[in-house]
Amino acid sequence: MQNRLDSIFANFTNAHLRQNIGDLALAEPQIMSGKEIAFESKTLIGGMLRPLFSKEIQSGLIMISQVALPSDFPVRFPKARPVILEKSTQVFANPRLVAIFPENWKDGYCREYSLYFVNRFTLRTTAAIKDMEAQISGLPRLFQINIDDRPTFEILAAQWVTLHESFHATGKFPYSNNIRIKSSLYSSAIEELRVDLLSINWCNKNSYFHLAEYIFFERVLRYILDSSTENDCDGLSSRIALTYLFQNQHLKIVNDKIHLSKYATTSIIGLLIEIGNFEKMSSELNFREAARLFCQNYLKENIEPIIGILKKNRDQNMR
Ligand SMILES: [Zn+2]
Repeated sequence: MQNRLDSIFANFTNAHLRQNIGDLALAEPQIMSGKEIAFESKTLIGGMLRPLFSKEIQSGLIMISQVALPSDFPVRFPKARPVILEKSTQVFANPRLVAIFPENWKDGYCREYSLYFVNRFTLRTTAAIKDMEAQISGLPRLFQINIDDRPTFEILAAQWVTLHESFHATGKFPYSNNIRIKSSLYSSAIEELRVDLLSINWCNKNSYFHLAEYIFFERVLRYILDSSTENDCDGLSSRIALTYLFQNQHLKIVNDKIHLSKYATTSIIGLLIEIGNFEKMSSELNFREAARLFCQNYLKENIEPIIGILKKNRDQNMR
């Protein structure tokens, strides 16, 4: 079985990628009809897609395995499927590609859910922890996890995406019914913040304190490393959260390091209340403009020194 799998991938990734979708269709017709095929404990999914970082539709094939949520984790959300990406064809090769959303597929049955590659999340998270840990005091639970403990980080990622996706479906304007008003730079920054702050709040209330720190690290601190705060909703959301913490004195610069107060992961929920009020006051008609004003109010604060400290090691390592 393994040999057959290897040969499928070998044939698929040779120079004739485009023709190979035809070859594969002959060899494995079910894959190319967009269905999943189980190979022992693995799953193959193939199809035509337009992934992030690419404008054109290409053929692609992935082999995934399941990551089970811990049995006592009380949230399940079928639209979020956290998986390990075991093997892929070229179109998925960019390590920054951490998820495939329904809109990425041109056809096929995967349009029902989002696939999250938790092993790629983990590479991204642990690299960021290495770069940022020395710059930050706070988040004692997260920083105490051994950086090489991949399974722990993969489960945290799986729990995060499950909460994240399920909270997208909540609120006055649930995301899936309101993609148009929630897809501008500003409104999507607020939406991403809203769902992760709801997730952190859920974690605090249900005693998932490691997970709360993990999600806080991802949303508030890590996105600022890799994403622009000017044209990327994740980078912008991070900047807003950092500004909120700074203005409320839960984040300070002490001896050229970022000092987070003991209450940083709970006080950030104040920003969730602001977002809730903003949504309550907004209508479908003025949503995008109101979102722009909400964000720009936060952008007035100069937090460049904070961002500079957070990025210091990453910038040095890039040189
Ligand atoms: Zn999201």
